Amino acid sequence: MLFLMKTLRFTTLPGDGIGPEVMEVAVKVLQKLGNLYNFSIESSSHDVGGIGIDNHGEALPESTLAACKKVDAILFGSVGGPKWENLPPKEQPERAALLPIRKAFELFANLRPGNLYPELCDLSPLRSDTVANGIDTLCVRELTGGIYFGQPKETTTLDNGEKQAVDTMVYRTEEIERITQLAVNAAALRDGRICSVDKANVLETSVLWRETVINCVQKLNPNIELTHMYVDNAAMQLVRDPNQFDVLLTENMFGDILSDELAVICGSLGMLASASLGTQKNSFDLPFGLYEPAGGTAPDIAGKGLANPCAQVLSAALMLRYSFGLEEAAQSIENAVKETIRAGLRTGDIAMGKKATGTSEMGQAIIDRLQ
Ligand code: NAD
Repeated sequence: MLFLMKTLRFTTLPGDGIGPEVMEVAVKVLQKLGNLYNFSIESSSHDVGGIGIDNHGEALPESTLAACKKVDAILFGSVGGPKWENLPPKEQPERAALLPIRKAFELFANLRPGNLYPELCDLSPLRSDTVANGIDTLCVRELTGGIYFGQPKETTTLDNGEKQAVDTMVYRTEEIERITQLAVNAAALRDGRICSVDKANVLETSVLWRETVINCVQKLNPNIELTHMYVDNAAMQLVRDPNQFDVLLTENMFGDILSDELAVICGSLGMLASASLGTQKNSFDLPFGLYEPAGGTAPDIAGKGLANPCAQVLSAALMLRYSFGLEEAAQSIENAVKETIRAGLRTGDIAMGKKATGTSEMGQAIIDRLQ
């Protein structure tokens, strides 16, 4: 029998601050995993963010974007830092790098796992009896529609001299269908439950949202257990009992707020990964995606070998799951991170009084536990 080895083509864009340190670990993890799961990786590293400005005069150099267009996924670090914070807002690394990438690849879906391991439950601001068994939830947020982008969006001066500002919340059926499809696929890989969050008692867009989500789930996978919740209640329920949610599906602004709420109740930015998936299919007929840690460049610890590599490593796991269809390999990474934490290894951000290990030691401990 002939076994064809999969080749995973992706770019790494480490960016600034701790980005390069944690990216190095993630790439090593993928290389080791390739031996175990019979895939090879073909990756190239490119400047983005502050280092893009320093080396090429722009946060998203043309050569970087061109390289990303040739591959199946982007593994992103994080960008920005004190050196560039006095630039005009439009030239700031985050805005000038991430927004054009989102636009170029039509990244319309943001998936943010909210994971807290039981061993780290004291990091959560929630009462320990609420999170004693950890947290395992996934927030699926629509990223390109809704009130952040709807037109008109303007401030005008009324006849009486008073100012008036308008933002427009708008959604089309197709925008709701495509995000629902991703949520259905994600839920099928988990516990099979979706809670769709809206404000259908007040907003027209939410009425359409709810109706479309119901039709879509029924059509795509009637085995998914679908429930609905108003956003104000969802914000409360998330702190009351985060584990009641398997997949939270919601529109752009509600998702912006709820995903940050989820991040904070999970305790440390150093542990949280995210995926942004696009409209384009890659050469595996899966969504092109950008995968990145939830946190930033952590300038306070950059270059010291102290950063927690878990968020970057877990972002690589999401890349395997969503852009390369390698579910078992993705789980292997997630289990290795879990086992590393269970074995008591801690970087400073999650040490809670224990002895802290450095980035590369933590990375090696994860690699040693890959199965
Ligand atoms: P931050 O996430 O970089 O840091 C906040 C705190 O969390 C710091 O104490 C930091 O040390 C800690 N932290 C974050 N990630 C960590 C990790 N992996 N390991 C250990 N500790 C970690 O947020 P900030 O300080 O507000 O922003 C710093 C810079 O990062 C800014 O320039 C900001 O614009 C940029 N930023 C970029 C992104 C992105 O690229 N997507 C996201 C957020 C912030």
